[in-house]
Amino acid sequence: MDLGLRDKVAVITGGSIGIGLAVAKGFAAEGAHVVIAARDADRLTAAREEILAAHAVQVVAVDCDVATALGCDRLLAATEEAFGGADILLNNAGTGSNETILDAPDDKWQFYWDLHVMAAVRLARGLVPSMKRRGGGVILNNASICAAQPLWYEPIYNVTKAALIMASKTMATEFIPHNIRVNAINPGFVLTPDWIKTATQLTAETGGDWKGYIDNLARENAPIGRFASPEEIADFFVFLCSDRASYSVGSTYFVDGGMLKTI
Ligand code: NDP
Repeated sequence: MDLGLRDKVAVITGGSIGIGLAVAKGFAAEGAHVVIAARDADRLTAAREEILAAHAVQVVAVDCDVATALGCDRLLAATEEAFGGADILLNNAGTGSNETILDAPDDKWQFYWDLHVMAAVRLARGLVPSMKRRGGGVILNNASICAAQPLWYEPIYNVTKAALIMASKTMATEFIPHNIRVNAINPGFVLTPDWIKTATQLTAETGGDWKGYIDNLARENAPIGRFASPEEIADFFVFLCSDRASYSVGSTYFVDGGMLKTI
């Protein structure tokens, strides 16, 4: 299936590793140029080189913190300079949390609000004008199953990811008259280096069987009985950003191996 993404420009936050990198590679495989953003410059450079080695596309790497207005501006300026704007924006940068509502201070709430919600708002505000000039575009927000089915240990993550879904829905209504489609994806368990690190830490004092921990977690929570690989969910992201998904507007799609317990 030709997805019609050749020579499109896709901006991917959190594009240096995990889901973001897998999606960036997916875009590149379809002939789209990519702008990848993350804070760690070395990891970003390695990701850029990996994509360039495999695909004949342009790859721009921007080290910036998208949880700040300054960081978003930096990403927008680099995108403008390299490509004069973008056709696709994937708001993917994010991370889990760990707290209770009674103990978490205001600044922790603010940090996650800025990372999961304001980054999407600021980058949309910055890129929509160029999408309009190009005749349309796509914004995809990577939320989480936790936006709908919370995990008890991360209330701030649950709340800010749920807010991202509503931001997505309202953006969709506002932008579709300009042929800009906005959707969200709620992944379930995806085996990224971040999860391996967490599982390694959690099993450090009991033998270090991080893989056993991951397998048990999947068996207990997801009917499919395993984590997804970043690559196997990346295809879904790439498809939703293509014209093949032209009637998908303002929706939230679960890709979770059956983990969601409601219909
Ligand atoms: P990873 O930790 O593997 O990657 C996160 C990426 O985001 C990295 O590139 C990281 O780079 C970047 N990033 C984090 N904070 C910032 C910031 N402030 N500014 C710029 N870049 C930043 O995460 P995953 O691939 O696992 O997750 C990606 C997204 O998917 C997240 O939003 C996550 O909530 C969501 N998700 C993940 C699931 C999973 O099971 N893995 C399940 C459901 C949703 P750097 O640290 O260098 O900035």
